[in-house]
Amino acid sequence: FIELSGIHKSFGKVEVLKGVDYAVERGSVSCLIGPSGSGKSTLLRCINSLEQPELGEIRVDGVLMGKATRRGHYRVLDEKEIAGQRASIGMVFQQFNLFPHMTALENVTVAPRWVKRESRAETKRRGMELLERVSLGSRAGHYPAELSGGQQQRVAIARALSMQPKVLLFDEPTSALDPELVGEVLAVMKDLARAGMTMIVVTHEMAFAHDVADHVAFMDGGVIVEEGHPRDVLDSPRTERAKDFLNRV
Ligand code: ATP
Ligand code: MG
Repeated sequence: FIELSGIHKSFGKVEVLKGVDYAVERGSVSCLIGPSGSGKSTLLRCINSLEQPELGEIRVDGVLMGKATRRGHYRVLDEKEIAGQRASIGMVFQQFNLFPHMTALENVTVAPRWVKRESRAETKRRGMELLERVSLGSRAGHYPAELSGGQQQRVAIARALSMQPKVLLFDEPTSALDPELVGEVLAVMKDLARAGMTMIVVTHEMAFAHDVADHVAFMDGGVIVEEGHPRDVLDSPRTERAKDFLNRV
C-alpha cells in the first residue's frame, strides 16, 4: 500500500537516510522504533512530502508520489494527483499542533470546510461525530488551552481523521504527555487499528508495538536494520544493535 525503495535524504553534508526500503500493507499497523537521530521522523516526513528525498521512489496506494533515479533529481510526477494523495495522508505530531485560537470543533472542521469546501452544517455534523469517536463530544466548545494534553492529542487525531485519510502517520504521539494521559491516546489509536485504519507509528511505547502492531521496523543510522513481526523483532532481535537498543528502553 505504501512502498519506499532506495530512499536517500541528506541535510547539508549529513546523510540522514541511507537507502531505506520499506513497505506497509493496507489496513496494517506498522511501528517504527530506533534511537534518537536514526531518521524516523525524516522517513515519515518523506512519506507525506514534507521532505523530498534525493534518491529513491515513493508509492502510496499505487500512485507514484515521486522518483529520483539520479541523486538530487527527485521529481513529483503529477502535481495535481500528488496534491490529492497528500490530503489523503494524515499526520499526528508529538506536540499536538492544534490551532490555539480555535475550539476543538473548529479544529476538526477547518480542513474539510476550507480545503474540501463542504457545507457548514455537514462539516459540523461530521466534526461532532469525530469528537465523539475520541470521547470528546462534551468538549467541542473548548479551546486547546482548556484541554489536557491527552484531550488535545485526541482532538489532533480527530482533526487528522477529518480529511478521511487513507493512512495516518504518528510521530511519537504520546511522548509529550504526562504518564497518566498516555493510555487514553493509545486507546484511541487501538480503536482506529481495530477499525482497519492503515497506520505508521513512530513510538517508544514498546507494549503498544508488541500488542497492536502487525509489523515493527528498527531503524538505526539511517537504515532499517531489522524488521518483521513484533514478537520476533522485540522479543528475539537478531542484530546486536537492536538488542542494545531494546535493552536500554
Ligand atoms: P528522535 O527520536 O530524536 O525524534 P529521529 O529518529 O526522528 O530522532 P530525525 O528527526 O529523522 O531522527 O533526524 C535524523 C537526523 O537528521 C538528526 O541528526 C537530525 O539532527 C537531522 N535533521 C533532521 N531534520 C533536519 C533539518 N531540517 N535540517 C538539518 N538536519 C536535520
Ligand atoms: Mg523524531
